[in-house]
Amino acid sequence: MSVTERDVIVVGAGPAGATAAAALAQKGYDVLLLDRHQFPRDKTCGDAVPAGAIELLWRLGMREKIEKAVERGELYPLEGMMLVSPRGHELHAKFNHGKLGSDSYVAPRIYFDALIQEHAVASGAEFCQAQAKAPIVENGKVVGMKVQANGRTHDLRAKLVIGADGVTSVVARNLRPKNEQHVDSHRAVALRAYIDDIEELPKEVEFYLYKDILPGYAWIFPIGENKANIGLGMRLDHFRKRKYNLEQMLHDFLERPEIKKRLLRGGQLRDVATWQLNFGSQKHLRHVFDGAILVGDAAGFINPLTGGGIHNGLVSAELAAQVADEALKANDVSRSKMQVYETLCHDHMWESMRNSSWMQRTFMRFPILVDFLVRRMKENSQLAKTFLTKL
Ligand SMILES: Cc1cc2nc3c(=O)[nH]c(=O)nc-3n(C[C@H](O)[C@H](O)[C@H](O)COP(=O)(O)OP(=O)(O)OC[C@H]3O[C@@H](n4cnc5c(N)ncnc54)[C@H](O)[C@@H]3O)c2cc1C
Repeated sequence: MSVTERDVIVVGAGPAGATAAAALAQKGYDVLLLDRHQFPRDKTCGDAVPAGAIELLWRLGMREKIEKAVERGELYPLEGMMLVSPRGHELHAKFNHGKLGSDSYVAPRIYFDALIQEHAVASGAEFCQAQAKAPIVENGKVVGMKVQANGRTHDLRAKLVIGADGVTSVVARNLRPKNEQHVDSHRAVALRAYIDDIEELPKEVEFYLYKDILPGYAWIFPIGENKANIGLGMRLDHFRKRKYNLEQMLHDFLERPEIKKRLLRGGQLRDVATWQLNFGSQKHLRHVFDGAILVGDAAGFINPLTGGGIHNGLVSAELAAQVADEALKANDVSRSKMQVYETLCHDHMWESMRNSSWMQRTFMRFPILVDFLVRRMKENSQLAKTFLTKL
């Protein structure tokens, strides 16, 4: 890490941060990409990546890297999905793969995130392992980041900071006013594990909208050879009210006869972990500040029905890179110059956030309604489309 001022510091090298870093490095900017972890590293996730996200990565120049990762068996291609209602009705639907022909995948994050982080570095960004502590703010404007690396604290300066440090973002926490943080009714908590002995439905992701988990669901996302990503999640306010235990809920899910009969050696779980999700359904949160922009989970762009956040994270990163480019060229990184980013995010994501939030808040609370919808709805219903495209 040098002491000179960078054009851009990107805090967090997950999919959103690495995408923003790659896009800006490709435009010729001097980009420092920070993460508290070395890569490859795991990230607690269902690992489902919809075709829209893959198309965006192709635009970033990653097509060959993705195809090679598929050949190595790191990304598992999907053909369809199954929604199961509280009383066991099933809705099957096929992915309508993107116009460019890209696929949806189950892409364990240990591989997927490393691919994008490597691409950012290959595009010219410098990567550094460092723990971000807080933005440096002078006269109301962000001018860099205070970070800890190799046991020492450093003040790193940049014209622009992109906060891509996920749900627990120190950039968001320090810059957003106290009354502008995510509230429990727009958040979720989820548990993820890998299972190594399940008879999977090949190339099909499974969503179980069971009564005890609503408004949430359990999932089984295959990764091949009888292995799958498995887990469940629910809205945080409901979870707190009911005082549930996620590990017990997963255990109960595995004990259900229709699941238990598919466990080849009784259900071997590994890498069990819990993490939070911030939905993009909470309006009026600021994503732009003088000298800083938030992207991905740091901003809070997760779909409130499906819990999918990778695609929106990438979309926000691509938009942030466009806006940052214009602001840096104009030598003006003020909130008023970059506020267009909030409008662009709204235009790209709000309609689907609003519809998903409506579905989650109305019928996902009532098992009887979910039964009716899953039984009566067809592959081309809004419900099926949302689960297919916003995984
Ligand atoms: C259990 C679960 C299941 C999910 N399933 C899916 C799914 O199947 N499909 C989907 O699309 N989405 C899913 N999501 C959501 C998805 O995981 C996120 O939306 C996605 O990871 C957002 O990417 P990001 O780059 O914004 O943040 P992250 O992936 O969280 O990356 C943030 C990065 O910042 C780094 N960082 C954090 N703090 C600091 C710091 N202080 N200093 C330096 N670095 C820091 C972290 O190490 C990390 O590498 C799921 C989430 C959970 C919790």
